[in-house]
Amino acid sequence: MRVTVLTGAGISTESGIPDYRGPNGMWRRDPDHEKLVTYDYYMADPEIRRRSWLMRRDNPAWEAEPNAAHRALAALPDAWIVTQNVDGLHQRAGSPPERVLELHGNMFGALCTACGARSTTREAIDRIDAGESDPACHECGGVVKTATVMFGQSLDPVVLTRAVEAAEECEVFLAVGSSLRVQPAASLVEVAVRAGARLVVVNAEPTPYDHLADEVIHDPIGAAVPRLCSSLT
Ligand code: NAD
Repeated sequence: MRVTVLTGAGISTESGIPDYRGPNGMWRRDPDHEKLVTYDYYMADPEIRRRSWLMRRDNPAWEAEPNAAHRALAALPDAWIVTQNVDGLHQRAGSPPERVLELHGNMFGALCTACGARSTTREAIDRIDAGESDPACHECGGVVKTATVMFGQSLDPVVLTRAVEAAEECEVFLAVGSSLRVQPAASLVEVAVRAGARLVVVNAEPTPYDHLADEVIHDPIGAAVPRLCSSLT
C-alpha cells in the first residue's frame, strides 16, 4: 500500500521536544517566541537573532532520541515522510533520507542570508557562547540564520513539488501531530484527499481538516502510530 505521512511537532513531544501550539507548547510559555522564528523580526533586530540562537542552543532536539512513532513510520516500506519538523528524528529513526522531505528545513544547518554560504548552527552557538552577540557570515558579513524556513519565508519549491507528488500518489495519507494550521504544509491533506487517498488524522486536538478524514485518532501518538502502522502492513 502506498503511504504518505505528514508529520508535525506533535510527533516529537514524546521525545522531549516541545511543540508550538499544544497545551505545553512554546507559544503558551513565551508569547514572544513567534518573533524568534519569524523572518522579518529576525532580519530587523540583532537582539531577536541572539535570542533565536539561544533558543536553538537550549532546544532539547540536540539530545533527543526518536520515539516509537518515528520508529514505526521508519518501518513502513517505501512510505514518503513529509515533515514540518526540523529535528532530524525521522532520519535518526531509520527512515531513508531520500524518503524524508523536510518542508521547513533542518535546525542543525545554518546559512548566510546574503551570500548563501553554508555553516552550522553549532558554530553560531559556539560564537555566541564565546561572547559574540550576532555572529555574522565569515565570508561576507551578512546575517546568518538556521537552515530552517521561518514564518514569512517561502518553502523550497523542489521539496514542495515532491511533497505534492507524494500526496497525490498515495492510497493512504496520515497526518500525525500537526495542528494543520501552517500553510502550505497543511494543504497537502486536501491534495491527497482530492486525489482519492484515505485520510487518517492522528492528533490530540481537533484540526481544521478533521471533516475530510476517514478516521480521526486523538490517542497519544507514541501508542497510536505503531498500532496504525501495524494495521497498514
Ligand atoms: P503545532 O505545535 O502547531 O501542533 C502540534 C499538535 O500536536 C498540537 O495540536 C498538539 O495537540 C498535538 N500533539 C502534541 N503532542 C502530542 C501527542 N503526544 N499525541 C497527540 N497529539 C499531540 O505543530 P505544527 O503543526 O507542526 O506547527 C509548528 C511548526 O513549528 C512546524 O511547522 C515546525 O516547522 C515547527 N516546529 C518544529 C518542531 C520540531 O522539529 N520538533 C518543534 C516545534 C515547532
